[in-house]
Amino acid sequence: MRSATRLDVLGTEHAYVVLDAAKQLEAAGHRVLHLEIGEPDMPTPAHVVEAGIRALREGRTRYAVAAGLPELRDAIAQALPARGVRAAAENVVVTPGAKPMLFCAALAVIEPGDEVLCPDPGFPIYASVARFAGGRPVYYPLDHTRAFAPDVDAIAARVTARTRVLVLNLPHNPTGGVASPDDLARLAALADRHDLWIISDEVYGQLRYDGRYDSIAALPGMSARTIIVDGFSKAYSMTGWRLGYGVMPARLTAPMITLVINNLSCTATFVQHAGVAALTGPQEPVHRMVAALRAKRDAVVQGLNAIEGVACATPAGAFYAFPDIGGILERTGLACESFADRLLDEAHTAVLAGTAFGPRGAGHLRLSYAGAARDLELALDRIRTWVGSLAAAA
Ligand code: PLP
Repeated sequence: MRSATRLDVLGTEHAYVVLDAAKQLEAAGHRVLHLEIGEPDMPTPAHVVEAGIRALREGRTRYAVAAGLPELRDAIAQALPARGVRAAAENVVVTPGAKPMLFCAALAVIEPGDEVLCPDPGFPIYASVARFAGGRPVYYPLDHTRAFAPDVDAIAARVTARTRVLVLNLPHNPTGGVASPDDLARLAALADRHDLWIISDEVYGQLRYDGRYDSIAALPGMSARTIIVDGFSKAYSMTGWRLGYGVMPARLTAPMITLVINNLSCTATFVQHAGVAALTGPQEPVHRMVAALRAKRDAVVQGLNAIEGVACATPAGAFYAFPDIGGILERTGLACESFADRLLDEAHTAVLAGTAFGPRGAGHLRLSYAGAARDLELALDRIRTWVGSLAAAA
């Protein structure tokens, strides 16, 4: 028996593959440092946990309406002005995480043969779900000379008569890049000119070090062509709760809910109550996390740049460093994939090869600095020592 061929076009998220290998080393008794998975070390804020527990105790353990609890859709709509977006509860659809909403958004707007502009490097799921929906991912480059901000001219040069969707992810995984207000305005004009949908993945929207909180959907006319994809995993340290949502033009909400009914039914009811608490309760935990991340970012970037053959830009948002390790690879003859594999096997430090995010990730690594500060320090020590041993062997 074989699986349907449509599955053959799916890509994967390499972080889970490396996490699995790292867990096996742990099971064998090794102390592994996890810089592969994008997960804050801060616990879920106590008032959010309490709301979830209270909901369970109150028996909120039954199906919820497919679109999401009215009070959560409301809370999401009321939180949108913080990023300049005005929308109502009926524009919001709740899903178990941002990822299911990415999947639904792709299925909802991509026709077979459509071209979908995806960032390279970028979150690998964009190209995967674009292909799954019958589309053709077309990569647009992000590079360090622009601090990994989208290059509007380079994107415009890739637009054809078949282009239907522009995927944005700001702040960006894996580089931490953001877009200036001017870039956003030019991207909006481009989308308008070519009548493109925008899938705007804003899961790191609140994790910016310049205090800005932007969305392309805030620009005139853009909410009519944008699906904001967002979730609670990152900003509220709720990765395991599985809670996310989409904000979309009202005409898309009904078919999107039908899509949700077909594959998810609804999102766990008690989890949605925790989500209401996250949005309507104190935002202090988010601010504290951003302050802690800033200190970790600075330490990691400084530590990486102190290693010969490494050049690491300072990310403006999210919690990933994306160092260029070309100097080391040249010296040792390794590729970034074998570097990452051996760093895990020999120094028990899990990172991702840049190519896990697309061809332009070659020569890079992605390190998540969302973990505990002391683990990051130890990881930098291990990387430094291990790279030193490579140099000695060479
Ligand atoms: N989008 C990006 C860019 C991500 O990095 C991730 C998680 O790593 C997600 C979406 C998925 O988030 P969630 O946990 O809400 O499904």
